Amino acid sequence: MKTKKTKLSTLYGDYLNRLTHAQKNTLAEYKRAVELYCGNQVFRQQIRLEQGNFPAVLRQYGLAVDFRSVIPWLKLRFGESDLIEGLADGLDQHPDYVLWLDYRAFLFSWRQACRDENQCRESHPEFHAWRMRQMTLCDDILQSSATAITHPSFAFELSKGCSVNCWFCGLSADSFTGYFAYTVENLRLWQDILDYLKQTFGIHSLQSGFCYWATDPTDNPDYTHFIQDFIGVTNIVPQSTLAKPMRSVQWTRRLLNLGAELPTIHRFSILTAKELAAVHAEFTPLELLNVELVMQHKQAQKVVSKAKAGYARKLPEKAQKLLSEEHTTIACVSGFLINLVTKQIQLIAPRVASAEYPDGFKIFDSVTFEGIEDFKQKIDKITQKRMSQSLSAQTQIKFRADLVYQLTASGFSLASSNNPTRIYHVHHGKPAQALAELIVNKDVSLKDLIKMTVNQGIPVLKTVWILDGLFKKGLLAEQ
Ligand code: SF4
Repeated sequence: MKTKKTKLSTLYGDYLNRLTHAQKNTLAEYKRAVELYCGNQVFRQQIRLEQGNFPAVLRQYGLAVDFRSVIPWLKLRFGESDLIEGLADGLDQHPDYVLWLDYRAFLFSWRQACRDENQCRESHPEFHAWRMRQMTLCDDILQSSATAITHPSFAFELSKGCSVNCWFCGLSADSFTGYFAYTVENLRLWQDILDYLKQTFGIHSLQSGFCYWATDPTDNPDYTHFIQDFIGVTNIVPQSTLAKPMRSVQWTRRLLNLGAELPTIHRFSILTAKELAAVHAEFTPLELLNVELVMQHKQAQKVVSKAKAGYARKLPEKAQKLLSEEHTTIACVSGFLINLVTKQIQLIAPRVASAEYPDGFKIFDSVTFEGIEDFKQKIDKITQKRMSQSLSAQTQIKFRADLVYQLTASGFSLASSNNPTRIYHVHHGKPAQALAELIVNKDVSLKDLIKMTVNQGIPVLKTVWILDGLFKKGLLAEQ
């Protein structure tokens, strides 16, 4: 049955349809000028030397956009100070800049929609509640990474390992050893998996999925075929990030053109200045309007901050000082990581990268499967085991380890030790205080905790009600 278009599948297309062709061109050129300034040392030098003659410099790069209108953004975004003071005065009302700000605001709201529209309250309430708890925890502990994460429910790896071997790989990708080929048998399994997940978790969850993780899509020559199938089942083009966009230009263009009526934003990870020059030479600004270039190379004006996760954690101490303490993980999935080559299913969620979680995510479960029936059973088993909607009598009751507990006049509070602005207040007076003291000082099951609170004269229903609220909010430690 054909999937109906959803808000998420048409959101970006609707935004683009509101723009005239001339506006899209302006946006694309504005974006190219920003990329050149940020990523191309020669261009940056030219602009600094020729501050009175921007049009001549821009013409060399085939651009007609008024570079002066780009300056307010460079100042806003990068605190750029090497451009003549006063040159941008009055330009914050420049129509190109206003258009650009509007585009950036749209991108922000789109990312928010990716997080919010992905829900399965009706189709799978257990998974929905579990994901919500993970999201609360991540918002509390992940610092600046929290705002960048949309918590997709599914990541599918269509290769085993990655051939790119980035020194900073936050996921510690293994070396590339093979890919999931588009054979008749594999295609059937892929279709069956997508159909089953859509049926079980609902379209809004599956639409959040994407088809890489500790892998580079270009390692799989058949990747675009699988993406085409994904679009067929979900009516959305899954986002792709390519670290080798120039490996086969024909392949990359095929990916960019897939599902053209349902545009999405892909990403190219730019690892060298040479790669940036090659990408800019090959693709027109308009072709790259829907592609974010992530500047990872050392010549970039402001290199994307790297998380202290994965391989980056193994760097010498001196080099680690250059990593961002605020950028705690690059893992984004709160849900299932499924590798089609190794037939592995993992239930994962982001965490601050640490000795306990070196790659910045927790693995709750890891199993392998053989064929679609086994896949279905394994997914069911994991959800039953890990996604209870309520506390059982045997559950050990503890506050999450990152929360700092304090008694208050009306009950108690729990504050995130990673983010002091995140504080939860629990009222209900003396019963709440007595319960909290028991939770902190005793390490007991729900059953025993209830006995203890009853001995202190607290009604069972009150205890259960407070604990249920704490559990649903994600403030209790998960086992
Ligand atoms: S960062 Fe991406 S491209 Fe680089 S090694 Fe890791 S998975 Fe591969």
